[in-house]
Amino acid sequence: SPYNLEAVEGKKGEDRISDAKVEVNDNIGHFLKKKLRVWCRLSNGLWGSGTIQSTSGEESFVSLSNGNVVKVSNNELLPANPEILEGVNDLIQLSYLNEPSVLQNLKYIYSRDMIYSKAGLVLIAVNPYKDVQIYGEEFVTSYRQKATDSPHVFATADTAYNEMMNDGISQSIIISGESGAGKTETAKMAMRYLAALGGGNGRIGRKILETHCILEAFGNAKTSKNDNSSRFGKLTEIYFTETGKISSAKIQTCKHIEFKNCYYNFVQSRVVQLAAGERSYHIFYQLCVGAPPTLREKLNLKMASEYNYLIQSDSLVINGVDDAKKFQKLVEALDIVQMCKEEQEQAFAMIAVVLWLGNISFQSIDNEHYVEASADEALTSAARLMGCTPHELNQVLSTHRVQAGKDSFAKKLTLQQAIDSRDALAKFIYASLFDWLVEQINKSLGVHKKYIGRSISILDIYGFESFKKNSFEQFCINYANERLQQHFNRYLFKLGQEEYGLDGIDWTKVDFEDNQECLDLFEKKPLGIFSLLDEESNFPNSTDFTLANKLKQHLHSSSYFKGDRGRAFSVRHFAGEVLYDTNGFLEKNRDSLNSDLVQHLSSCNSELPRLFAKKRINQSLKPTISSDTPKQSVGTNFKGQLFKLMHQLENTKPHFIRCIKPNCKQLPDMYEEELVLQQLRYCGILEVVKISRAGYPTRMTHLEFAERYGFLLLETNAYQDPLSISVAVLKQFNVLPDMYRVGYTKLYLRTGQIGALEDRRKQV
Ligand code: ATP
Ligand code: MG
Repeated sequence: SPYNLEAVEGKKGEDRISDAKVEVNDNIGHFLKKKLRVWCRLSNGLWGSGTIQSTSGEESFVSLSNGNVVKVSNNELLPANPEILEGVNDLIQLSYLNEPSVLQNLKYIYSRDMIYSKAGLVLIAVNPYKDVQIYGEEFVTSYRQKATDSPHVFATADTAYNEMMNDGISQSIIISGESGAGKTETAKMAMRYLAALGGGNGRIGRKILETHCILEAFGNAKTSKNDNSSRFGKLTEIYFTETGKISSAKIQTCKHIEFKNCYYNFVQSRVVQLAAGERSYHIFYQLCVGAPPTLREKLNLKMASEYNYLIQSDSLVINGVDDAKKFQKLVEALDIVQMCKEEQEQAFAMIAVVLWLGNISFQSIDNEHYVEASADEALTSAARLMGCTPHELNQVLSTHRVQAGKDSFAKKLTLQQAIDSRDALAKFIYASLFDWLVEQINKSLGVHKKYIGRSISILDIYGFESFKKNSFEQFCINYANERLQQHFNRYLFKLGQEEYGLDGIDWTKVDFEDNQECLDLFEKKPLGIFSLLDEESNFPNSTDFTLANKLKQHLHSSSYFKGDRGRAFSVRHFAGEVLYDTNGFLEKNRDSLNSDLVQHLSSCNSELPRLFAKKRINQSLKPTISSDTPKQSVGTNFKGQLFKLMHQLENTKPHFIRCIKPNCKQLPDMYEEELVLQQLRYCGILEVVKISRAGYPTRMTHLEFAERYGFLLLETNAYQDPLSISVAVLKQFNVLPDMYRVGYTKLYLRTGQIGALEDRRKQV
């Protein structure tokens, strides 16, 4: 095989990106003689550029661009790219695709407010955290008319649209990156461009754009990382007619675990529990400050500061955000998606129910440790808005129905049990409301028309996460990202092979590192983590430790799994190894809602609570031993949603966008190298780069090549056509046959080859 298989298979973890080191060590003499630029790792861990002054043994003296001279080990040296490659807008053009070169290139581009660049097929977007003037109508027009081809989300959307129109194949735009990297903003821009292209009479396009405002109000929140963090993944499918006009659209969501896992209090759930500096979902604050007087009165609304659920954290407002104005915008958006005023009011009433539930307190009865709800404004308001009596609400919150043979009786609850039950109700109502909203929006976007046609799907989904301590949330998110990475890898390789094939290159299949084995670790039945977790969740006496032991016992042979001390285990993900703590896994995985609560909701007079109860009952109406046995676990449910989503994506031609956040402070003009580097790893950019290194990433047409280097030929007149000239140049400069391939139209070169030719060109 002409391919450097080792580079493809790579080493694991950190090593995988630094295999370019091998190259520099071989070439150090060359770099020294030619006084070429190198990168050297400085004592602070960052990379500096300079030229080698002298080398002795394993060490070199490097003169840095700031004038300093440092002594570094040769192992810490990497080749830098020739200056003409500074700020290329496709990383693939770099002769040396090592870590500092990629970082430097992104930094260079970012410093010029050009937030987009490419890594081969992938668009890279670095969040500017400021208004960059590149989204105006003139830019839409410019990309539409193909007056410019510089990387941009508009260009990606344009390509997707054109390919859909020309080939009749559905497309997808897959956007990933970590929290705050700019996925949602990027997705919105892509949709804006598509709406401009396929707007037709404008109405459906406008509707699609207005859905952002609605879903963000109910599904986004201020977190420590992002003032407007999406707490759900979203796939928006936009359907087009034969003539390229938007006909309808459909939104699918995949809620974050914090959203779903309703039923245990020590599982962090944003509705009832807030971390310092974070807020609950925007809608709570928007409604409290923005509702008009009549609505306030109907819902008996107070200010946000009077609701217990909201005041657990000190953050009631977000800098620079006017919640009242946002509320107006929300109502406008609801009008545009044709949700009638009555339904809007019902939805807001559910928000008020949640808030009032949080204010319900309990007092002990008869000096026992059993409690009942205090008969106060909170209880009466919540009950009225749900459509039940305060007595009924108290009953369901402070007792539990127990079946004894044919009879049932009400068992009193303790304080903690009553609080859990109250919070469970609030969480369930909120999660159901979100799903209901998505359903209403979809009705309005016309999915009922069952238009089967071409579509462009836009996926905005949470990126890979790795913290010091990782729990079930990260476990699910990282599993999703592992799946997406597989989709990405498989597509990339297939495409790479096709292009070489079409250009007549003798292609020997590159055997790439597929992550199927890692996915098996999660998915296999019965011996995958999800199955084992479900099994253990069903045992009444299971604990975090029994779960951890079970995993270790069954999975130790997988090279992607490593048992750790106590409750911990780690998984070798594509982006690196992640240590998970099984603490809370079982509880988070169990989706057991006390059936009394559902029963109660189904008997309420208000429409939405009844609807939510019905949905829940339909979902899980299978006879089970006890009413609290999980029908479907949270993990399995998550996996199912993801499968559905992936299946949809597999039938489309993908376009990838990786968003990068340049700093953790949400500030403009600040580029933190370490942070960027970590994301490049997590979102697989360096993987793409590595894959490319294994092949022939530099591509030039024969003509381009001949024009640039033809003059270097000693016998200039001997060759006429660009192909012969190109080959003659390569021969004259002793470029080894393994370093290039000649296609029908293009020349394919290994990394580093252009760099060498450029040097020679400069010397002439
Ligand atoms: P999460 O995973 O938390 O939802 P995200 O990747 O969706 O994060 P966004 O909400 O899209 O991140 O972006 C965070 C913030 O960054 C935005 O609110 C906006 O202030 C800024 N931002 C993102 N992209 C751009 C852009 N292209 N131009 C200007 N500002 C941007
Ligand atoms: Mg987002």
